[in-house]
Amino acid sequence: MLRTLNDINPEGKRVLIRCDFNVPLKEGEIADDTRIKKALPTINELLEKGASVILMSHLGRPGGEKKAEFSLRPVSERLGELLEKDVKFCQQNAGPEASRMAQDLKRGEILLLENLRFNPGEKENDPVFAGELASLADCLVQDAFGTIHREHASMTGVPEHIPAYAGRLLEKEIKYLTRGLKPEEPLCVCLGGAKIETKIGVIENMLGKAASLLIGGGMCYTLLKADGRETGKSLLDNGYLQTAGNILAKAKDKDVELLLPVDHVAADSIDNPVKVIKTGGADVPEDLMGVDISERTIDNFRKKILSAKTIVLNGPMGVFENERFASGTKAVLEAVVEATKKGALSIAGGGDTVSAIKALGFKEEDFTHVSTGGGASLKFLEGKTLPGIRVLQD
Ligand code: AMP
Repeated sequence: MLRTLNDINPEGKRVLIRCDFNVPLKEGEIADDTRIKKALPTINELLEKGASVILMSHLGRPGGEKKAEFSLRPVSERLGELLEKDVKFCQQNAGPEASRMAQDLKRGEILLLENLRFNPGEKENDPVFAGELASLADCLVQDAFGTIHREHASMTGVPEHIPAYAGRLLEKEIKYLTRGLKPEEPLCVCLGGAKIETKIGVIENMLGKAASLLIGGGMCYTLLKADGRETGKSLLDNGYLQTAGNILAKAKDKDVELLLPVDHVAADSIDNPVKVIKTGGADVPEDLMGVDISERTIDNFRKKILSAKTIVLNGPMGVFENERFASGTKAVLEAVVEATKKGALSIAGGGDTVSAIKALGFKEEDFTHVSTGGGASLKFLEGKTLPGIRVLQD
């Protein structure tokens, strides 16, 4: 059983909240504050229930050193605007200054600590650093789904010292992603994107659950190659050819419909395409690379999506960043939105899926759930109990 905010009375307590404020920055400005907005329900609930809150997060990859460009100060300012409250900022993430500021907090007050990754102890899961963080508060509320698969001090170290609970955002992620693992059937899993290594575990786990697996994006060419197809200059991960062959055999064995593209949009270059064709068949000409799925594949994928009760979508079907190669991704998203409107449960995830949803004019509300964690959602869909969740379970 997952311990949640329902299991604590935070009145008069100091609560440490691990948020995911890993926002994109452009010239020191926050380029997208979605992650900050998503943290608000948990923060507001705890404040309304009479707690004072100490917020902590990582931002970027400062490599265990203090670097001004990775400071969380801009986040404290934006958070203050969104909450319409003063957010105190501590230039340290632990130590005497953080302790003093935490001690001074009064009911309803908010303190944000400096970037956890300025201290190498965060990534190393240093017990001393974890103990210092824990000493600031009475309990931990975990809301950083994006790093829930990491054994870092703020994720698994702090709960060794103080009681830990899931925040509302994390609770929601777990609730919906679990419905991808224990689906109302039939389940359709649609995967794309470039990196096959990050999705192999999901394919293997889903072979036992999904009625259909649809695979597009750059990763499909390793599977097509293993299936004996010509893939031209398409993305190929030779290290996964054998695994890809095993997956195709297993799918046949288990009677899972594994659908690969039967036609492509192919080009001579991703960045400066001069020659762009529709292949008409599953093979890609030797001098070209597959950059998107084409009409017949879209039609096949659409049918499977529309006949599913649960849909898991992760990764774009093509190089959607170029609008000439975005049709496949757009059509698949359209089908998922249509299925959702008709009552199917749709769970979309992965950083690039979220970017595609925004870039191609869809809204998060068009889907049942859009996961905030890229790597974390994939690890979850592999069926593993993730370290940051394990420490929140009774
Ligand atoms: P990933 O991080 O593995 O989900 O990959 C996302 C990226 O895959 C996006 O930036 C897409 O442009 C890229 N992608 C999708 N389809 C292809 C393709 N056929 N060839 C190369 N890259 C692709």
